[in-house]
Amino acid sequence: MTKAGSDIDTRPSGAKRPYIDRVSAKELDDWFAKRGYPAYRRRQLASWLERQVTETRHMTDLPLALRTELEADFRFDHLEILRRQESADGETVKYLVALDERHQVETVSLRYRHGHSVCVSSQSGCRMGCTFCASSRRGFGRDLRAAEMLAQLRLAAEDRGERVSHVVLMGIGEPFDNYEETLDFIRRANAPEGFGIGARHITVSTVGLVPEIRRFANEGLAANLAVSLHAADDTVRRRLLPVARRYSLDELMAACRYYLTKTSRRLSYEYALFQNVNDQPAAADELASLLRGQRCHVNLIPANPVPGSDLTPSDPKRIERFRQRLEERHITVTVRRSLGGDIEAACGQLRRDAGS
Ligand code: SF4
Repeated sequence: MTKAGSDIDTRPSGAKRPYIDRVSAKELDDWFAKRGYPAYRRRQLASWLERQVTETRHMTDLPLALRTELEADFRFDHLEILRRQESADGETVKYLVALDERHQVETVSLRYRHGHSVCVSSQSGCRMGCTFCASSRRGFGRDLRAAEMLAQLRLAAEDRGERVSHVVLMGIGEPFDNYEETLDFIRRANAPEGFGIGARHITVSTVGLVPEIRRFANEGLAANLAVSLHAADDTVRRRLLPVARRYSLDELMAACRYYLTKTSRRLSYEYALFQNVNDQPAAADELASLLRGQRCHVNLIPANPVPGSDLTPSDPKRIERFRQRLEERHITVTVRRSLGGDIEAACGQLRRDAGS
């Protein structure tokens, strides 16, 4: 990893080399034996991989020659920081990161009173096309591998010199559109020999992919689920989220109730507020009646301006009125503190590359 100021990538393409964490134990045993390395070297590598370390520069007990040979035959996850932006208050740092020669994502590190939270991207670009979101403007690039998501945690921990205590899968991409890798990532971030981040400190956010919400409910994980609702009315929701054309609110609510019953956990609903679109008193009433009786929490998000969008973020007074109205109707509600607005690291502002 280098803190380069450009996006020129001179690494070999490595297209034919398998990813190290996907190579079987038997193949690795054979690889070490063929090169005459003693068995303990193989065990040293295994120990790094068990700890979810898949970058050779961290494998400091392996001789450089061996690391070079490994690099020649296998792919390792090298995330390169192409750009680092820090907010004026120092609480938020946004990284533009190269995954390979063609794909980039953004990762955000946020320092809160309760710890160090990292907002992880799960895809380069996004297929969901939410109208207020900068992440999908340039279309879809590719899914991230679990190891690449883990590498984002390592990168932030190293750069900030602070252990990651919380993870939110709210960066670029729809995590449930990359379901298998997302689940693998959560399990590995949670593993005691890996990052050891408590499942209750891991939150996965979905725009509302109904089959995957049901599937997630069946996984037996203690991770948190946040559903981007943004409207309690199908027409308004379809305007904001094209995915709402695929799944109606009825279908979404049925999946959410299934999740609540199956997991006995609480659900978070994300609700970004736009002036005269979804922030009127009637919209608050509709939302309150949609969620009545659910074990849930509504997170109101002061929306951020995204160039090219015709949506106007609600002003603080309207947000406060909306919050009060929900509270009066016995809905647990908070307004999310917007961090990193000055470096476009806030909700809906992440991009898949430097130019979009
Ligand atoms: S809000 Fe999330 S799901 Fe929607 S386009 Fe942006 S990254 Fe994708």
